[in-house]
Amino acid sequence: MGIKHVFLIFSTVVLLTVHAAATPKNIILFIGDGMGASQLSAAKYVKGELQMERCTVGGLATTHCIDRMVTDSAAAGTALATGHKTTKGTIAQTPEGSPLKTALEVAEEQGKSTGLVATSAITHATPASFGAHVPKRGMQAEIAEQLAAQEIEVLFGGGHAFFIPQSMEGSMRKDDKNVLETLESWMTVVTTEEEFKALGTPNRVAGLFADNGLPKVSEGRIELAAMTQKAIQVLAQNKKGFFLMVEGSQIDWAGHANDAEYILLETLDFDDAVGVGLDFAKHDGNTLVIVTADHETGGFAVLDGSVGSNTVSQTAFATKTHSATMVPVLAYGPGSEAFGGMIDNTDIGSQIIHYLEKDRPGFFKRLFQ
Ligand code: MG
Ligand code: ZN
Repeated sequence: MGIKHVFLIFSTVVLLTVHAAATPKNIILFIGDGMGASQLSAAKYVKGELQMERCTVGGLATTHCIDRMVTDSAAAGTALATGHKTTKGTIAQTPEGSPLKTALEVAEEQGKSTGLVATSAITHATPASFGAHVPKRGMQAEIAEQLAAQEIEVLFGGGHAFFIPQSMEGSMRKDDKNVLETLESWMTVVTTEEEFKALGTPNRVAGLFADNGLPKVSEGRIELAAMTQKAIQVLAQNKKGFFLMVEGSQIDWAGHANDAEYILLETLDFDDAVGVGLDFAKHDGNTLVIVTADHETGGFAVLDGSVGSNTVSQTAFATKTHSATMVPVLAYGPGSEAFGGMIDNTDIGSQIIHYLEKDRPGFFKRLFQ
């Protein structure tokens, strides 16, 4: 066999390897709400080295929605959850009202376990995009009912007020439905950090740690990393695998507040959670980790600081709302190669669904056809 033949065999093997992109058993999607490249830059210069630098694939994603260049967490969450664009404010359905199947729902169909973790209310736009279908993101009472009707194994975040009837103190519902009772009928439900820490490894668990959004990390809340760790521990019990979405919700709120320190602390809290996911993925070997954002918030810029002393001293903001700046996409593990280069947020959603539901063509598969 000549050298040409050896080369031919080698190239064929390489091509086959590329075509048969590894399908991960588990997928963890980390969404830093409002986390653009500048938010990451500030975190990088202050911390020195970020956990997410362990990702081996990197790219950028456009985030525009159907009716606007500047999107919101509902339309962008829908793109990441379903692979379809929709209009601003819409949760996992078309502008005409047809429901769009989400990655979480596909994972459940495939017998995998699923989880949603956020530092906002669990009924807020980003997590809602994975487990509910409503025309307006503000319909959080309806979203709570829909989340409780899904076969989700893990729900960690705030939003207790949307699960309890209007007669109960702190309720934000306008009816007498007790959605918390529905959750309690099939999940372990905890509401305090003490109860959270005392959790063993239940089959299904909901943690609703605040009436609405959780406190800022600077005010002392359960770290996103701790919630991520517990979620993985619960979900990894399923031999068929799992899909988990973890959101650093308040990077966005910090951007709206044009508060650079708040941005920094929330981004670092988010990065610690990514580290937990990457540790699991490295040990497990069959887990895909994707880190991205739904959009940038604040038109944030890092203008001065010291690399040597790990400080950021001057920042600026171009807006109190979101911007159309492309967002970072980082990935690690089997199937991560699909997330490199310059892509669109819908490519992320459709590729995740492709991995979960093997007969649906994903972005990467389309590229090589
Ligand atoms: Mg959000
Ligand atoms: Zn926002």
